[in-house]
This record gives sequence, C-alpha cells and structure tokens, in this order.
Amino acid sequence: MSRRPAVAKTPKARPTAGPAQPVGRPGAPRRSAPPERAPRTAARARVSLPAGVAPAQVIVRAGKERSLERRHPWLYAGGVEHVIGDPASGDTVALIDASGGFLAWAAWSPQSTIRARAWSFEREDRIDPAWFRARIQRAIERRCHLHERTDAVRLVFGEADGLPGLVVDRYGSQLVIQCLAAGVAAHREVLVDALVATTGCVDVYERSDAAVRAREGLESTTGVLRGREPSGPIEIVEDGIRYGVDIVSGHKTGFYIDQRDNRRAVRDEIGRLRRDRTGQPITMLNAFSYTGGFSLAALAGGATSALTVDSSAEALAMAQHNAQRNGFGPEQLVVAQSDVFALLSEAAQQQRRFDLIVLDPPKFAPSASHVERAARAYKEINRKALGLLHPGGALFTFSCSGAIDVDLFQKIVAGAVIDAQVDCSLVRRLGAGDDHPMAMTHPEGEYLKGLLLRRN
Ligand code: SAH
Repeated sequence: MSRRPAVAKTPKARPTAGPAQPVGRPGAPRRSAPPERAPRTAARARVSLPAGVAPAQVIVRAGKERSLERRHPWLYAGGVEHVIGDPASGDTVALIDASGGFLAWAAWSPQSTIRARAWSFEREDRIDPAWFRARIQRAIERRCHLHERTDAVRLVFGEADGLPGLVVDRYGSQLVIQCLAAGVAAHREVLVDALVATTGCVDVYERSDAAVRAREGLESTTGVLRGREPSGPIEIVEDGIRYGVDIVSGHKTGFYIDQRDNRRAVRDEIGRLRRDRTGQPITMLNAFSYTGGFSLAALAGGATSALTVDSSAEALAMAQHNAQRNGFGPEQLVVAQSDVFALLSEAAQQQRRFDLIVLDPPKFAPSASHVERAARAYKEINRKALGLLHPGGALFTFSCSGAIDVDLFQKIVAGAVIDAQVDCSLVRRLGAGDDHPMAMTHPEGEYLKGLLLRRN
C-alpha cells in the first residue's frame, strides 16, 4: 500500500497572547492590508483587556461586528478596519469593535478570506494550553455515549466544538487529526498533547491534506505525529459490522463516520422490505459506494445482494475485504468499477430493478458558484435512480455540498421525481450523526443532508 511521506511542517505554535506583542505602538509594522483610515486612538484607549494580556488587536469595521456579537465565529477580510501589532498566521488576536469594545479572542489567518476565527467570546478567557485542554475534554465528553455502538467516532468537529478548523477522528485506539485552519495548525502540538492526555490513545496520525488548507496559506501535511505508523488498515466495528479503515491513503481520515445513523437506517429499511416481501430476494444498489459502508449495512439487514459501484478500484478492493470480514461472499457484495452516471443509464436499458438504492455522491458543489451545475447533476442521478426502483422500494439520496441547503436539495429531488414520473413519498429527512453537531450560531457547519423516499 502506498504511504504518503510527511510533507512540510506546519508553523510552530507561538506563545499565545504573549506579552511581547506591542499594542498600538506607533508605526508598528503590519503584515495585513494597510488601513483604509488612520487607527482610531479612541479604540485603543477604550478597550481594556485582562491584566498581563497584550496580544495584537484587530479593529473590526463598524457594522461588521454584528455577526460576532451574535457569536458567529468568522471575521471576513472585508470586516477588518486595521490591525494593531504584527500577528503571525495562527496567533491569537483580540477582536475589538470600532468603539473599543471587546468582541472575541480569535486565531489570525492573514491569507484566508476568513481572516480570523473566534476561539472565545469571553473577555476573561486566556487562550493557553489549559484552555485548549478544556475544549478538547468537553468535545470528547459529548461523544461518550457513542462508544457503545462503535469505535469510529468523530471526537472534535471544528466550529461546532469551539475549535475552528480542527477535526479529530478516533478509530479504535488510533487518532487521526486534520488541522484545516491557521489557528489549529499553529497550536497543533498543544492540541495533540491534550488529545493524548484525554483519550489515552498513543498513536496520532495527521491527514491535513484537504484542499481547504491552501486557502489558509498552509501546505498539505500528513504523517505520524505520535506513536507508530499503522501497519495496514485499522479494523473498526460499528453496530456489529466490521470495516477496514485506511487512515493513510483513504478519503479524508479514512471512513465516512458521518453516515453511521444512515447506515443504520438502510439496515432497518431492508428489514421493512423483508417483512413486506416475505421470501422474495431484496436487491440494493449502492452508488458512490467508497468502501461499501451502505452495502455492508444492507447485507447485515438481510439484503440478498448489494451492487456496489464506485470509480475507485482501491475503494472497491476495500469493500470486498469488508465483505470477507463479515462473512459475505462475492455474490452478495457485487462490485462494479464504473461511472455512476453511465451505470444508471445502462441499468435502465437492461430494465434492471432494485428494492433499495443509495446515492451518496461526492460534493458536486464545492462553492456557491457551482450550485447550478451541481443541481443538474443531482437531478440527473436521482431521476435515473428513481426509474430503477421497484414499487415499494426506497431511495436514500444524499448531498454533502454545503452550498446546497436542505430545502434546495429537496426541491432538486422533487424535480427528479416529477421528471421520472414516479409516485413517491418523502419518509424522512436525514443528516450526519450526533458526533457531527452544528453550532446554532454557525449554520455553515451543516453540510450532509439526505432524504429517504419510498416509491408507492
Ligand atoms: N457512500 C460512501 C462515501 C461516498 S464518497 C460511504 O458511505 O462510505 C464519494 C465516492 O464517489 C468516492 O468513493 C469516489 O471515488 C466516488 N466517485 C466520485 N465520482 C464518481 C463517479 N462519477 N462514478 C462513480 N464513483 C464516483
């Protein structure tokens, strides 16, 4: 199996909120864009920070403080009036409103359009190792109940856990982390220390190779941070089903943990179909299968066969291993390396029918500018899949595009239902598991949405 070498190191953590920062020193060098107006002396005079704390200050343009006041954690570049001091990427800065009032402590990210991400809205907080440890502990405690069902749990989910840009997944005793913003990249060592101390896990692997790192001016970096390099895929057990997870070369951190509850729902739906169709074979189509998570869930629920389709040969090889791990044969988990769009058309020509179909494509809309094209692609696969469903059959359809909200996704799928000329009911809306919560103040955190439709 190919191993990715550890690439460039992330910048070293600088002391947080250290006393070395010159606050409001006249003529202090600034790395950020020059101010549009001269610094307001009033702003510097009126803000009072806790004694001994002298970080750089970012004065927020009048009017742009409102979202921070509503505890939305991001300050965009356009909201920066000027910077007092010379913060480096990832340093902790104080966000101050135009009249000198404290808004938040935040991580400075000079190259990103999201120029600062708030750590805390409490003036008295010190963003130091103890503070990071407390955040990590709180995030882990919120997930304790999940360990009964699975040993694959997302322990930290960025903004929802008050640690913007940090993702930590636990697979058995292995931790995999992604530092996707300047602040968490700069504090990586402190965060890893806290994770090791809190979980007792000794093996920590970094997969900070997501494209979003580039937007923060950070290089891609992967490799062992603590303990050993895994000698092969890690085996995890979720709801009694075994899955192999390749944390080194797999997608993201290796497994789509976020689909746990939906895998369970697929299994339950197969149970319903079996009750409705006693003695008849139950067939499922898992389109965009990756390593076959939904196929295994369907087979565990009693499906006769699961056609498992992906364009990636490595993903399908792991899906076959996963079948073996659970005692299912190749006539049960059938793999097809194919483009899903083409396979759906072929299946229609061959008049194939399925009792349950899962559509879980990659993010078709990486940003708002891709929404229209993505909508057409979502509609096409849904229309084609609906035409392949037996009456009484179920479609689980997903979108992980943050730029397409649940209402729009439902409209797109409704359009597909009309074009397919099938009679369908929406049974339920679906989302990510509860280790992927969303901060109510940060709706951008919601990305995975799904619909369960039944054909009448
Ligand atoms: N359902 C999976 C996750 C899917 S991720 C799970 O629960 O684990 C999206 C998958 O779609 C990836 O494995 C990727 O290889 C595959 N893919 C992307 N475009 C594709 C296409 N046009 N046809 C087939 N597979 C595709």
